[in-house]
Amino acid sequence: MGEDGAPLPPREALPRGAVTRFAPSPTGFLHLGHAHAALFAWHLARAAGGRFLLRIEDIDAGRCRPEFAAAIVEDLAWLGLDWPEPVRVQSRHMAEYRAALDSLATRGLLYPCFCTRAEIAREIAAAAHAPHGPDGPLYPGTCRRLSAAERQERLARGDPHALRLDMAAALRTAPRDLSCHELGEGRRRCDPARFGDVVLARKDTPASYHLCVTHDDALQGVTLVTRGADLRPATDLHRLLQALMGWPEPAYAHHRLLTDAAGRRLAKREGAPALRALREAGHRPEAVRAMAGFGAAPR
Ligand code: GLU
Repeated sequence: MGEDGAPLPPREALPRGAVTRFAPSPTGFLHLGHAHAALFAWHLARAAGGRFLLRIEDIDAGRCRPEFAAAIVEDLAWLGLDWPEPVRVQSRHMAEYRAALDSLATRGLLYPCFCTRAEIAREIAAAAHAPHGPDGPLYPGTCRRLSAAERQERLARGDPHALRLDMAAALRTAPRDLSCHELGEGRRRCDPARFGDVVLARKDTPASYHLCVTHDDALQGVTLVTRGADLRPATDLHRLLQALMGWPEPAYAHHRLLTDAAGRRLAKREGAPALRALREAGHRPEAVRAMAGFGAAPR
């Protein structure tokens, strides 16, 4: 247990010298739930004698804003956390994600998908049995079945398209027995097929969360990925991407999700108090750390 009852995996389970990271998307101000996630990663790195990194995951230009990225840095420093500079900012590295996509495409593991959201929704609604995955209903595979000529014609016409992983082809390429190591819980079998033909590059953003996060964790030498329990299923897909790309396997640890008095998960849209609002109301960093479940001062 961490201070104040924040559940941390046992120290002896920690990979020595573990590199952890907090990787928020700058779509708003950080609230107590983010503070919990950041402190969880920070404390684990300290306990393991390792390093804690900060990364800004801002590939979604429509939702991310530089002023929120600046506020993240300011709020975390105020909270008492530190990290090495420079901070990796994903939007500055699109060419690297493109290269990873090219590598998958060369091996025939990606295909362009021209479907609109509405078209996909209509197909799913019309299907008698529409399987669901961790990110919602699975893509029915419409564009996977396009003929090579039709695909070429639409690409040549400049039709907007996403890039999807051909899951069946990917599974034929990857080792059969994919598993992940969850700290304190041992190895768990992974089942990436439950994601179906997942989008790895969006129409509006030439990359996706799943691609960028696994790419960067590998590049930055993150050996212990920490995230909220809500993101646990994503590991199954990330292990597949790591296997396909030859990226090293990190260990995983999941933290609980803080809830409000009514038991609802803290979220910006539900009015979770922003760290800066708490600061402006006169709370000290140590008090806010305690509210976020980590009572002891960072050392
Ligand atoms: N950027 C992601 C988010 O804000 C989290 C990254 C991760 O830990 O996988 O939800």
